[in-house]
Amino acid sequence: MKAHDGMYIGGAWRPAAGDEVIEVVNPVDEQIVATVPAGTAEDVDAAVRAARAAFPVWAATPPAERAARLAALRDVLEARKDEIAETVTAELGSPLALSKAVHASVPIAVAASYADLATTYAFEEKAGNSTIHHEPVGVVGAITPWNYPLHQIVAKVAPALAAGCTVVVKPAEDTPLTARLFAEAVHEAGIPAGVFNLVTGLGPVAGQALAEHPGTDMISFTGSTAVGKRIGALAGAAVKRVALELGGKSANVILPSADLARAVNVGVANVMSNSGQTCSAWTRMLVHRDQYDEAVQIAAAAAGKYGDRIGPVVSARQQARVRGYIEKGIAEGARLVAGGPDAPRERGYFVRPTVFADVTPEMTIAQEEIFGPVLCVLRYEDEEDALRIANGTVYGLAGAVWAGDEAEAVAFARRMDTGQVDINGGRFNPLAPFGGYKQSGVGRELGRHGLAEYLQTKSLQF
Ligand code: NAD
Repeated sequence: MKAHDGMYIGGAWRPAAGDEVIEVVNPVDEQIVATVPAGTAEDVDAAVRAARAAFPVWAATPPAERAARLAALRDVLEARKDEIAETVTAELGSPLALSKAVHASVPIAVAASYADLATTYAFEEKAGNSTIHHEPVGVVGAITPWNYPLHQIVAKVAPALAAGCTVVVKPAEDTPLTARLFAEAVHEAGIPAGVFNLVTGLGPVAGQALAEHPGTDMISFTGSTAVGKRIGALAGAAVKRVALELGGKSANVILPSADLARAVNVGVANVMSNSGQTCSAWTRMLVHRDQYDEAVQIAAAAAGKYGDRIGPVVSARQQARVRGYIEKGIAEGARLVAGGPDAPRERGYFVRPTVFADVTPEMTIAQEEIFGPVLCVLRYEDEEDALRIANGTVYGLAGAVWAGDEAEAVAFARRMDTGQVDINGGRFNPLAPFGGYKQSGVGRELGRHGLAEYLQTKSLQF
């Protein structure tokens, strides 16, 4: 893999202002695969200026033309999807099959959805004697995490560009190579210079500089709740638009009438996928007391089958964090029925697929986001108890409900304090708004709601 030494600013790769670099490590074998420049406030300033300069023309570009550029971007991503999958595997460690099926494919679908929405969205509407124009917010600073390296970028850049905004992306330091590949794709797609810009770098340096920059009109952030709170405070102080996609601790509620084996097996697969590094993962499984022992047995067997098949977590730091939570679960009295804190291999940041039974709602492992392959199985007495447990965290990002009757599941889902619920294993939909209730965030991504985040209204009266 080539050593990268520039930032994508104003339509070209430019040398970084400083000479510090970030080493990109393959989590499978702990080898350094590349280095990228660690951007400074100077690089961020150059990128924001480029985005500001490009804004008036891009904002005035007819939506159909913006849509055509997004369609071209989709096509480039499609043409380079194998390279995308290999790059994600190299820096995130995910098995290649997962990288192909999810990490490369989902962003293609999302880019396609915005190419479509840009042509159909009503950027102008009438209300009585007024015409309301939906206009782009301006220059967007986008800060993304490593767990779905390309999806997190596309879920911000595609709607922002469709809206007529220009963007500066600061990707996660663990996965900057996928971000660079995306910048190449943007260039190949003929998106005008300055509309998209990329600055790699550390969060507290380049990320913070982007959030603080007076030239950004909006910050769209995905990451931890701790950093999200700081970004929100910065944006609030400057009266800037902000969108925050933060952590989760979602509940998978299995009602007594459900197909228990299916609900448990799909639930385990949901948590183990991407090695548990999915903010919307259903990390708390809630089972009625009469079915509890059977569910625990099924879950333990399902996790056991994963063995070595899941990839590592992204970094040594993340591995230590997840293993710390597993130790904490044992110390607080939860019963380990699969996996455990020991590293399954000598090399690589692997964590064993882990299942805890006898987890009570107040335990640390039932309250805090672990972001690793760890499932907690909790017992409930009746439906009211299940609802109280499901809603009993500071988070509200996603969840699942299983029942014999769809209407019964829907009635329960409507009472959950959360932004997205899958009914009886419902499929991912790139048009469904995604985002959090409570401390899981502010705003929505995907579909028309995701596009609306990047628009502001102007009313003309006649
Ligand atoms: P993180 O908050 O540490 O980092 C996210 C991004 O913020 C990175 O690009 C990082 O460099 C940057 N950053 C860090 N400190 C910063 C600062 N002071 N100022 C500006 N930027 C800064 O999170 P992470 O560890 O990379 O990702 C895991 C977290 O992300 C989990 O909590 C997970 O739930 C959350 N997440 C949420 C969603 C969602 O859609 N709700 C999706 C994926 C991940």
